Amino acid sequence: MHYVYRFSEGSKELRDVLGGKGANLAEMTNLGLPVPPGFTISTAASRAYLTDGILPPELRVEVTTALRAVEDAMSRRLGDFHDPLLVSVRSGAQHSMPGMMDTVLNVGLNDAAVQGLAESSGDERFAWDSYRRLIQMFGKTVLGVPDAVFVDESNRMKALHGMDGEADLDAGALRELVHRYKELVRGECGREFPQHPREQLDLAIEAVFKSWNSERAQLYRRRERIPHDLGTAVNIQAMVFGNLGATSGTGVAFTRDPSSGRPGGYGDYLPNAQGEDVVSGVRNTLALEELAELDEEAYRELLTAMRRLETHYRDLCDIEFTIERGKLWLLQTRVGKRTPSAAFRIATQLVDESLITMDEALTRVSGAQLSQLLFPQFDSLLPRTPLTVGMGASPGAAVGEIAFTNDVAIRRAGEGASVILVRRETNPDDLHGMLAARGVLTARGGKTSHAAVVARGMGTCAVVGAEELQIDPVGRTMRVADMVLSEGDTISIDGTTGEVFAGQVDVVDSAAMVYVEQGLESALVAADSNSAELVTSLHRLLDHADARRRMGVRANADNRVDALKARDRGAEGIGLCRTEHQFLGDRRGLVEALVLAGSPAAEEAALEALLPVQRDAVVEVLEAMDGLPVTIRLLDPPLHEFLPDLVDVAAAAAVAAERGDDDRDRAALVSVLREHRELNPMLGMRGVRLGLKIEGLLRMQIRAICEATDIRLDAAGDPRPEIMVPLVGSVREQQIVRDICRELFPSIRGRSVPIGCMIELPRAALTAYRIAEEADFFSFGTNDLTQTTWGFSRDDVEATFFPTYLRNGVLTISPFETIDADGVGVLVEAGVAGGRRTKPTLPMGVCGEHGGDPESIRFFHDIGLDYVSCSPYRVPIARLEAGRAAVLSPRGEREA
Ligand code: ADP
Ligand code: MG
Ligand code: MG
Repeated sequence: MHYVYRFSEGSKELRDVLGGKGANLAEMTNLGLPVPPGFTISTAASRAYLTDGILPPELRVEVTTALRAVEDAMSRRLGDFHDPLLVSVRSGAQHSMPGMMDTVLNVGLNDAAVQGLAESSGDERFAWDSYRRLIQMFGKTVLGVPDAVFVDESNRMKALHGMDGEADLDAGALRELVHRYKELVRGECGREFPQHPREQLDLAIEAVFKSWNSERAQLYRRRERIPHDLGTAVNIQAMVFGNLGATSGTGVAFTRDPSSGRPGGYGDYLPNAQGEDVVSGVRNTLALEELAELDEEAYRELLTAMRRLETHYRDLCDIEFTIERGKLWLLQTRVGKRTPSAAFRIATQLVDESLITMDEALTRVSGAQLSQLLFPQFDSLLPRTPLTVGMGASPGAAVGEIAFTNDVAIRRAGEGASVILVRRETNPDDLHGMLAARGVLTARGGKTSHAAVVARGMGTCAVVGAEELQIDPVGRTMRVADMVLSEGDTISIDGTTGEVFAGQVDVVDSAAMVYVEQGLESALVAADSNSAELVTSLHRLLDHADARRRMGVRANADNRVDALKARDRGAEGIGLCRTEHQFLGDRRGLVEALVLAGSPAAEEAALEALLPVQRDAVVEVLEAMDGLPVTIRLLDPPLHEFLPDLVDVAAAAAVAAERGDDDRDRAALVSVLREHRELNPMLGMRGVRLGLKIEGLLRMQIRAICEATDIRLDAAGDPRPEIMVPLVGSVREQQIVRDICRELFPSIRGRSVPIGCMIELPRAALTAYRIAEEADFFSFGTNDLTQTTWGFSRDDVEATFFPTYLRNGVLTISPFETIDADGVGVLVEAGVAGGRRTKPTLPMGVCGEHGGDPESIRFFHDIGLDYVSCSPYRVPIARLEAGRAAVLSPRGEREA
């Protein structure tokens, strides 16, 4: 085992050892591309440093050996008085990460070597410019001197010489600046700027290792669920110079346009510049094509290298390059970032160019990207200037009037207005205001603030941390610079980009949404050429996902409208039809009457009234889903939602008593409600428990489903109902319900109706092998399973302490969003194993919200579920992800 890899020893497969940057530098080196020589210190050295707190001694030796090889290759020596070798020290972990040490260029310069550099380059100005860059970068990133100290000094110097930029300062001025910088370092650190090149190098290496545990890096890793013990690699590379006058320069390039995918070079170039000058915006860059006029040969060579890289990586690459006196050098490449729309387009473009297969194309896009494409958007054709920009925390676009308080938001929303709740920050008291609002805007807080977490959970568009916003909740105004808006004024917010606009910006369905809802032809009619390309790509990739996926995709739908919507989007049935939803609204009283019925006769009457309502609701859904399975779940009511509020009724009764009215009915109602009151309704009279307690209700539902099926058969339909029992914990519960079904209908006109159950309690998962004896299918209810496994009451915890838990790292993502594979997931696996032990082909699906979450879908594929069921809206996302899962792990095995 060794710590140091020369570039020629590595490859792009070694990301975990060499980090992304090092692995790609090695890959380019081995492709024969012009990469300045160098070596990579592996992540293992960083891990050793993290454990021991010192650089491993072998590392020093290995660095010396590798450094000598670089010196030989360049025919220069570090610290040489006549022709010194300089190097850059660059961090680079497996995942690129903010908070890691910034690159230090020109390491190896000191008071003597700077003379040598002037001599060897014949350019004194260049030598001092390089030295002042080193002191500034090293001072800031290694010695911790605030950058402002250097910037102020440099500004003073420029003013003194009447110049705008460092590029205008001459050799003498730069030499003076170097002297001043060294004094500043001494003043700030109480030590001299290190003159020994090897000391500079070792300090810089150690600083990279230290930056692994910077606060920003830790925060980022928690948020992105990157393990804290991976460590970072360090790249040491011979310097090449873009700041050697007009025939030199530096730039960045993409092998194709990252927003449209159009092939051909695309990028920025800055003559006579080094390193970060291009991205820092200190000077205006040229478009890449302009390089063709400056240096035709270097430009051609660059295009050839880019083509080579794109062919090799078979994907869009981005590249950093430098031209030193007409000679091209490549300093970095990686598979480039792109917008969601470009991701789809580039994937099919590469297929059409025969660079990748359709299977690979599927792995290049994701459900998360598709879901971004489906959000409503502000009409992109209209010009617009944002009032301010915050962080896009929950995607979508919303237009509405400003409300500064929950009361106003709730009142105006109740009056039919579309409202944007605007707060400095939100807290659990704001939940009702947030629920009423179309969008949420806050001046403070980041992506895991209360507002962000809760809005994402509710699917409400949100922009957070718009710091320019000054909110005056008392005066009921908000202000950005001299623009003042008052409560009731209209604003528009974009939860994807974080933009905030004054006034109304028109919201339109995205092209992808038109495609998903109306099909390819309609979408093409409405589309411009950009979106036409997008919907065509989308169509091809979804088609391919459908062909490849093993898992079925069903939808959660309770009525005709949702069922049809789901069917249009490609759902292959309903995985969860919630009968309690069919009794809400004006039908609520029917359930209330049943629960509160005082006598068998009253109960009978209430059931008689419910039967036709239930039957019609089932007919409606069976008709919409004709020919496809419809899983009808028996009533799983949160009882309190069907009953009047005890406090209200008791108060009214008290008032009546005070007045001396004799209101016996009300007094009786109070006592019945008291009996039904539950301290913890989530763990109380729910699911199958209610059906077993009020058996008439269970029988009524089963009868209604039978009759509805009959009606559909009479109408020559093809009804395929499945009956699902909720909240089963014991096989006996399932058995009782099944016996009742068998008694009421052995079969319906020769068709058998499968009777299965939800697995949504830990006990059900653990005793699945028993329950399977009495069940024809399982459907994992991962919402309740998450609640009962964690002991979280979702409605309570998401608004109260989840933001804290996400900040301090107890949670990295809400377990209600993505399945908690280590805990809840293990129970699901146990349920699958138990069920299959008893019945090897028992059909199994999932119907919690996780059924529409990309990462969870991959998990469900890997553990062998047969289908996922999700909201109609997410059906296309689930189709895509199920296809991706099948391509990524064909046999559906979980990775160890
Ligand atoms: P980042 O990850 O922030 O891009 P890099 O390590 O890529 O940091 O370096 C910052 C800048 O310095 C880039 O423009 C890069 O091309 C340049 N750079 C890094 N190493 C060298 C080198 N050996 N010679 C010339 N320029 C370099
Ligand atoms: Mg870079
Ligand atoms: Mg449930």
